[in-house]
Amino acid sequence: MSKLLLGKPVADKITEEVKLEVENLKEKNIIPKLSIIRVGENPSDKAYERGALKRMEKSGIEAEVHLLSKDIEEDDFLSKLEELNNDKDTHGILIFRPLPNQLREEKIKYNILPGKDVDCFSPVNVAKIFEGDESGLPPATPAAVIETLKYYDIELKGKDVVVLGRSLVVGKPVSMMLLKENATVTICHSKTKELEEVSSKADIVVAAIGRDRMVKSNFLKENAIVIDVGINIDSEGNMHGDVDFEGVKDKVTMITPVPRGIGSVTTSILAKNVVKACKQINNI
Ligand code: NDP
Repeated sequence: MSKLLLGKPVADKITEEVKLEVENLKEKNIIPKLSIIRVGENPSDKAYERGALKRMEKSGIEAEVHLLSKDIEEDDFLSKLEELNNDKDTHGILIFRPLPNQLREEKIKYNILPGKDVDCFSPVNVAKIFEGDESGLPPATPAAVIETLKYYDIELKGKDVVVLGRSLVVGKPVSMMLLKENATVTICHSKTKELEEVSSKADIVVAAIGRDRMVKSNFLKENAIVIDVGINIDSEGNMHGDVDFEGVKDKVTMITPVPRGIGSVTTSILAKNVVKACKQINNI
């Protein structure tokens, strides 16, 4: 049986560090605050919101939810965003996506203030990830992958890493962040030829494809390390990763479980980003 890379200790460590930073800010009479914009009653948004609010409370960060009607016009949405961009008490803004069709993400992403964009929606923060510029606010899930690898002392320098998936949410940014850590990164997608063969050469495989347990034992070399980002819910409501955990667990040396893996680290990254934004806004 391989070593389980659990998310909780990683999230706890980040939260402890964030709490200390929040205490220091509070001594200067600065209270970090996250403002969440949620449009409608999407159950997965609400589930993430509950987790985020709990994490902010644990970290000493204030949080407020702005609930907007699912039929809201784009101009009204942009007015709310503008209000939060200008709100002196708000340091981080999180907008749940995807937004309903009448709200054009292609337009809205240019309107969120990059310095308050704690979920890497703004093209400015996306560009900073690609430039390796650490002044930006990194996306939560890719940053959770990197923090987990670091927490468990997994060397990245010179390692062959295969990333399965090339979305702007996970695959592409995590690949750039791994490259910054001096890994040799191969990005695979649905048109990649001989996927199993490419993947089975990697020291570390990061799976972010959104395909229930598709990554089988033949995708992995003996003693590989596996980071499973996938969240797939089956017809009975059970959560599975993109990796066939049962089928690979005796072949690999380390693996993140689903649930209790990467997904449990993301809200602590969000808290870390709120504090980073707050410090930058206050020139600390
Ligand atoms: P997307 O659907 O946006 O992207 C999936 C990527 O996987 C695409 O690049 C696609 O290739 C590739 N892909 C799909 N099928 C195959 C296949 N058969 N072989 C090879 N590549 C394939 O998903 P996301 O990136 O948003 O999310 C990926 C997974 O991570 C999902 O399970 C999602 O639920 C989960 N997730 C987890 C989070 C967490 O906090 N743990 C947060 C966000 C997402 P192509 O580009 O060619 O179409």
